[in-house]
Amino acid sequence: MQNKIWLSSPHLSGSELSFIEDAFRKNWVTSIGENIDEFELSIAKYLENNTEICALNSATSAIHLALVLLGITKDDEVITSTFSFIASANPIVYQGARPVFVDSEKDTWNMCPIALQEAIEDRIKKGTKPKAIIIVHLYGMPAKMDEIISISEKYEIPLIEDAAEALGSKYKGKACGTFGRFGVLSFNGNKIITTSGGGALVCHSKEDKDKAVFLSTQARDNAPHYQHSQIGYNYRMSNISAGVGRGQMEVLNDRVDARRKTHDFYVGLFQDIEGVEVLSEINSDFYSNHWLSAILVDENITGKTREDLRLALLEDNIESRPLWKPMHLQPVFADAPYYGKTIAESLFEKGLCLPSGSNLQEEDKIRIQKIVQEVFSN
Ligand SMILES: *Cc1c(COP(=O)(O)O)cnc(C)c1O
Repeated sequence: MQNKIWLSSPHLSGSELSFIEDAFRKNWVTSIGENIDEFELSIAKYLENNTEICALNSATSAIHLALVLLGITKDDEVITSTFSFIASANPIVYQGARPVFVDSEKDTWNMCPIALQEAIEDRIKKGTKPKAIIIVHLYGMPAKMDEIISISEKYEIPLIEDAAEALGSKYKGKACGTFGRFGVLSFNGNKIITTSGGGALVCHSKEDKDKAVFLSTQARDNAPHYQHSQIGYNYRMSNISAGVGRGQMEVLNDRVDARRKTHDFYVGLFQDIEGVEVLSEINSDFYSNHWLSAILVDENITGKTREDLRLALLEDNIESRPLWKPMHLQPVFADAPYYGKTIAESLFEKGLCLPSGSNLQEEDKIRIQKIVQEVFSN
């Protein structure tokens, strides 16, 4: 059996261990310490735009805290993309609120601004104005932020940006994750950089950051004994994980470059295969980190399905994965309101994510190329 080629696996810089050792040496091994402070500062510096970062144990926790900070509570409605990982929607349910799902648009695959507006209008007509919008930049591709922000402002509904997949992506030169009232980043093992599992809440004031830190460390009031006047969470990142993050931040730009080069490789590979489309930036307003390179396979033209390709790759021990199955089609969200058409559904039927790790080797690309050419040549 050939070596396994992963969809997206951790890619360490080599300097992570020295930050971890430093934490051990100084005995700062829990949820305070220099690694956390420095990691948060380095992200804020990278993102610019007056950001204040709260490092957490996951992006899911970060979305949850954003909802708590916006006061989302029982029976509120929150709009989010149907075409996403379930972590964009689950925290809505943690708050006892209800997700309202919105379809994608064809060119960026992200939330369709027209369907978003329809959804807001209709929810208002039905008597429940949505309390927040969670917008996702999927596979690193920025959503159409001008349109989304103008809708958010028009209806005065705050925006949470799920940029879990989009650290390093930009829209009109501005970092994804910095547009919303809150932004969310993930450092899970398969993301563009990792902390071995972790996330961050991107805030725009010291006050919001302090509140997030407070809530993420069990909401302990300022008293010598344990005093609590609010419900808190155990969501803070550890100083050990943050050490991994510090090492990773040193190479973030290289990781983005590598993933963008891999995207170029796929564009070249599929250029002459009619009926296969690679998700690409529609114009220079969009700058994707190309976290995952993804394709759509048109069966009517190619005579093949995305499953044909996925199984052929698997046969050679190469991992690929169908695009996200829309949330409104998930059994757990069967009763949730949905607005839009069948774009997300069709992306799910035709789409496949291809190996995109920044540690993908030249010989890996040759193996992938060979299988792709075999599948589509007959
Ligand atoms: C990975 C991911 C998350 C969750 O990140 P965790 O850090 O694993 O909690 C949320 N949203 C999207 C779009 C993701 O891809």
